[in-house]
Amino acid sequence: MPHDFDLIVIGAGSGGVAASRRAAAHGAKVAVVEASRVGGTCVIRGCVPKKLLMYAAQYGDGFDEAAGYGWQLAKPEFQMARWADAKAAETQRLEHIYRQLLAGSKVELIEGRAQVDGPGRVRVGERVLSARHLLIASGAAPVRDSIDGIQHCPTSDDLLDLRELPERAAIVGSGFIAVEFASILARLGVKVGLFYRAHLPLRGFDEDLRTRAASALQAAGVVLHPGCAPRQVQRAGDQWLLIDADERVHAYPFVLNATGRRPNTQGLGLRTLGIELDAAGAVPVDAQLHTSATNVYAIGDVTNKINLTPVAIAEGRALADSLFGPTARQVDLSLVASAVFMMPPLATIGPTEAELVGAGRALKVFEADFRPMRQAFIDGSERCYMKLLVDAATDQVLAVHMLGADAPEIVQSLAVALSAGATKAHFDRTIAVHPTAAEEFVLLREATRTHGLG
Ligand SMILES: Cc1cc2nc3c(=O)[nH]c(=O)nc-3n(C[C@H](O)[C@H](O)[C@H](O)COP(=O)(O)OP(=O)(O)OC[C@H]3O[C@@H](n4cnc5c(N)ncnc54)[C@H](O)[C@@H]3O)c2cc1C
Repeated sequence: MPHDFDLIVIGAGSGGVAASRRAAAHGAKVAVVEASRVGGTCVIRGCVPKKLLMYAAQYGDGFDEAAGYGWQLAKPEFQMARWADAKAAETQRLEHIYRQLLAGSKVELIEGRAQVDGPGRVRVGERVLSARHLLIASGAAPVRDSIDGIQHCPTSDDLLDLRELPERAAIVGSGFIAVEFASILARLGVKVGLFYRAHLPLRGFDEDLRTRAASALQAAGVVLHPGCAPRQVQRAGDQWLLIDADERVHAYPFVLNATGRRPNTQGLGLRTLGIELDAAGAVPVDAQLHTSATNVYAIGDVTNKINLTPVAIAEGRALADSLFGPTARQVDLSLVASAVFMMPPLATIGPTEAELVGAGRALKVFEADFRPMRQAFIDGSERCYMKLLVDAATDQVLAVHMLGADAPEIVQSLAVALSAGATKAHFDRTIAVHPTAAEEFVLLREATRTHGLG
């Protein structure tokens, strides 16, 4: 039986769009099915609107700083509704571009919810489509049932659609989304309480970044509640009540549920293909992104490996090249840089110090911790922290961790050096760009500590 398509992709988010377009460029006949808006999480309710809200929040500091630098300003006022209008226009513009890109690549966009209907078959409403290959790129969505009663509270999806900000907000969670919104909302004048189970926010990041991130949040006025994960959320009049394990009650008019995200696999029909989901509900894949079913693949957040846009895109392109291009290839996820867009932001590439020490690596640690020049006229308390982790045996730089202004931009550039295998000697012989914060990375002379050197 001839198939309708060479490839059907479920989900027109970052990964799905990248895979469809690349496959079509190789000459494949491709359809992509999208249940919501084209562009997916990143463009519509993730990275892009989040960063646009961060830009709005940065002005909060900017006005204060400007006064230190000699500007006379009237008292500024932030209007969320105006930001919401500008954000809606921008996401519409981007969605339109994505639609044009798909059409220009001759990818057929099918709007509706896809359900797998057996090997090589996908149902969208009344239509049943067939394809030689099937790609699951359905992403993830906020977990709504992590705490009793929290299912009624807004998530990041809802927050980014607000037209008015609350005066006070509790944020439950301490992953990058929770921390970013805590930092952003505090800068926009909201009194924020951050509730989380661990002793520090941002589990998985280097401990020195975590402690400094916690201090930066406190300096922005965020009240931290470590070791305090609510066990129940109740509505009482116009307030939400967070009830913690010690039966203490915390009342807030707004509670943001930032307790995590879950792969979009419910109701997808993957069982009909014999695919067993893992404990998190994700689709298990091998290094070639193949699922356990023949000719069925998965990429991006639905596989719950490294849930970042550039990873989903890289996987989508690699898979399309492997299926329809001249040679198969794999994505190398051993060194993936990432950022937390709090204020000041942090960025990181490579393992944490604790991970390397735990693996028994002989290590030299180089650090700088200073007040950035920009703080000079405003007597600010903001700091900049940098850390290089260097293999003591080979001199190779294994990791870069930074919290400070422009950290994501700086670490993005250093990621190239690290993926090229740069050594500390390469950093040392690089002439600095002066005056910058980034120059400190090439001026680190003495190790502040070593591990495994006897
Ligand atoms: C608030 C927030 C901030 C973030 N910030 C960053 C950041 O700064 N940097 C970064 O790299 N990453 C960030 N991310 C993560 C990033 O958005 C995701 O990693 C990325 O979007 C994953 O791409 P994807 O293609 O796997 O899935 P998605 O982009 O989520 O796309 C999946 C698509 O599939 C559709 N779909 C689902 N089920 C079906 C179905 N049955 N039928 C048809 N369509 C379906 C969905 O509607 C969606 O459009 C952020 C995420 C959030 C929530």
